[in-house]
Amino acid sequence: MKNLKKGVDTICAHEGEIVDEQFGGSVSPIYVSTSYEYIDKEVRRYPRYFNTPNQESLCKKISALECSESAIVFGSGMAAISTTLLAFLSAGDHILLQKDIYGGTRNLVEAQFKRYNIDYSFTDGLELKDFEVGIKNITKVIYIETPSNPLLKIVDIQKIAAFAKSNNIITIIDNTFATPIIQKPILFGVDVVLHSATKYFGGHSDISAGAVATSKANIDIIWNLAKNLGGNLSDYSAWLLERSMKTLGVRVKTQQKSAKKLAKYLSESSSVKKVYYPGLKSHPNHLLAKKQMKGYGAMISFEFVDEINTELFLTSLKLIKPSMSLAGVESTMLSPAETSHHLLSEKDRLSQGITDRLIRFSVGIENKKDIIRDIENAINLSIK
Ligand SMILES: *Cc1c(COP(=O)(O)O)cnc(C)c1O
Repeated sequence: MKNLKKGVDTICAHEGEIVDEQFGGSVSPIYVSTSYEYIDKEVRRYPRYFNTPNQESLCKKISALECSESAIVFGSGMAAISTTLLAFLSAGDHILLQKDIYGGTRNLVEAQFKRYNIDYSFTDGLELKDFEVGIKNITKVIYIETPSNPLLKIVDIQKIAAFAKSNNIITIIDNTFATPIIQKPILFGVDVVLHSATKYFGGHSDISAGAVATSKANIDIIWNLAKNLGGNLSDYSAWLLERSMKTLGVRVKTQQKSAKKLAKYLSESSSVKKVYYPGLKSHPNHLLAKKQMKGYGAMISFEFVDEINTELFLTSLKLIKPSMSLAGVESTMLSPAETSHHLLSEKDRLSQGITDRLIRFSVGIENKKDIIRDIENAINLSIK
């Protein structure tokens, strides 16, 4: 409870830190041992038991931010996602997933679940009714992601979680795009929150990690499989991630403030056909986003008018990096059709509204006027 009273930036800066009693240093020491004493010890520590001092320290910060009882960290977002899904699903169970989700998660389900005899389906849309018609009597898990990648669609977290609960179904959310600075799904009744910590948690495009925040009982279920599968985060990375997360609130708030202005700028540009950003009044779920988020995030997607050559635009950028990942302090852009969603068939991609002309824009911390100058310059160089 006491964490609810602390501000998010205080939690980011301090929660979970390991006090350096030996030397009085001001930051958490890093413990890289893979071997710990066990005689007369209550805890048997080992990196693949997910309980080294730096792993635990990081989990305390993450659970304080997500308002969960507990957390566990992994070596990648997909390690967190795959371990969690397989921990809750057994042969004969069904999982209902939201139509628009991260391409890697969709690929995991489509490429692997049949072999384990886990039944799956995707919703037709993102409204409550789409989930109501999608469940079966064997449905064990409902999986959502909001704002979604890459079109920033918004799902009503509270409605879906309440519906799932009344049917004894576990709700799992991928909260990577929002971060707990903007959105705390557990307060809306969600059971399990997932993160690719490679993104905003790390924030500097130099750490691969994943995280799960949920109840103690659920962490036990996940841990039981996690220790078999491996997929733990190294202590070097855990320490670096703790350091990075100290500025999570500061970064995300700066980035989303800039994103809101850039979305407006893009929506007013005669070269841009369509902008997807939940902070724009024209976004179909603007009011819902306003209700469940504190701000609208720092991801924008947009499509140029036909006169602009998208590929040429991307290669003409000088400040903004055309780059695979997202959420760093540096602004990046990419074509989802060529990257995050290239494993999907063209038909599936187009049915999700992901055209070859779509650009996903991860807004960094650079000054807005420099970002705009770069975009304008690249537009001028890519008129057909
Ligand atoms: C990147 C990403 C993932 C996968 O995380 P990795 O760290 O790359 O394994 C999952 N969900 C979302 C929304 C992502 O952006």
